[in-house]
This record gives sequence, C-alpha cells and structure tokens, in this order.
Amino acid sequence: MKCPFCGSLSDQVLDSRPIEHASVVRRRRECLECKKRYTTFERPEEVSLMVVKSNHSREPFDRKKVWSGIDRACRKRPVAAETIDKIVDEIENELSAEYVMEIPSNIIGQKILDKLWDLDLVAYIRFASVYRQFGDIDTFMEELKKLKKEHLKRASKAAMPKKSKI
Ligand SMILES: [Zn+2]
Repeated sequence: MKCPFCGSLSDQVLDSRPIEHASVVRRRRECLECKKRYTTFERPEEVSLMVVKSNHSREPFDRKKVWSGIDRACRKRPVAAETIDKIVDEIENELSAEYVMEIPSNIIGQKILDKLWDLDLVAYIRFASVYRQFGDIDTFMEELKKLKKEHLKRASKAAMPKKSKI
C-alpha cells in the first residue's frame, strides 16, 4: 500500500477487520517511513470466469446458458428443475476450482455430457447430438454403439450383486 503522506510503499498492518454486511475489509496501517497512520478499505476484485470459444472469442461464464442447454436436453424427461439446478451448481463449482479466469468452452460441454451421462441417457444423446454436431450418420452410430456397450456394462455391473434368477 502506498502511504498517502510520503508515498512510501513499506507499511505495517496494525489492525484488520471485516465490515459487517459488506465484502470489505478495513485495515489500519502505519507507514514504516514517516510513521503516520492511515486506513484502507479493501474489497476483493469481482472474479468472473471467462469462456473462450473455439473461434477464440470470449464471453463471461453464463450460468443461465448452461442451465437452458441442460433443460433443452432434458425436455419431457423425468428430470426435476432442482436436479438441473444442482448439476449447474456442480459444474460451476468444478469450473471455478479447476480454472482461473479462463475456461475453454469445450470443457463446459464435456462436463455437461458427463453429468447427463449419469442422469439420463436420452438427455445425454440429445445434448451430444447438438454439442458434437455429429457430422455424419457414421459418427452418430458409433456414439450409439459406444453408449449401448457402456449401458450393458453398467446394467450387468448393477445386476452383479443380486442372485441370478432363472
Ligand atoms: Zn509515509
């Protein structure tokens, strides 16, 4: 902090306390040069995550966009609005834990896919078909095949603990 009296950059914090109902910290400081005392009010810089798209343009992370993307994929599926809220929360938390300032947009798409995969396969396929824009029928069929395989694997895993009934 620059001393308002002599301009020195060396100071010592005497006292530091948060101000109630505001994200501001009041600090009492003493200049190490001229020994005068002054008060600073510090607020954290608003940190907003920026999304970097494949064409290198940037836009602020928009929670609503993620929400409506998932909502569209889940239309007429047995998925509650609260579940979508929860997923968006999770994605937002993961992003702010894993990224500082900038997130490649494909990461967000991938995270949504991961969540839908566990939630609802129809919603997953819907989102994937929009998101990955399967260029041709072959890639789409490939994705379906992969899904079916994975689905069977999961189904048999889930059935494993039970006794087989014949
Ligand atoms: Zn000073």
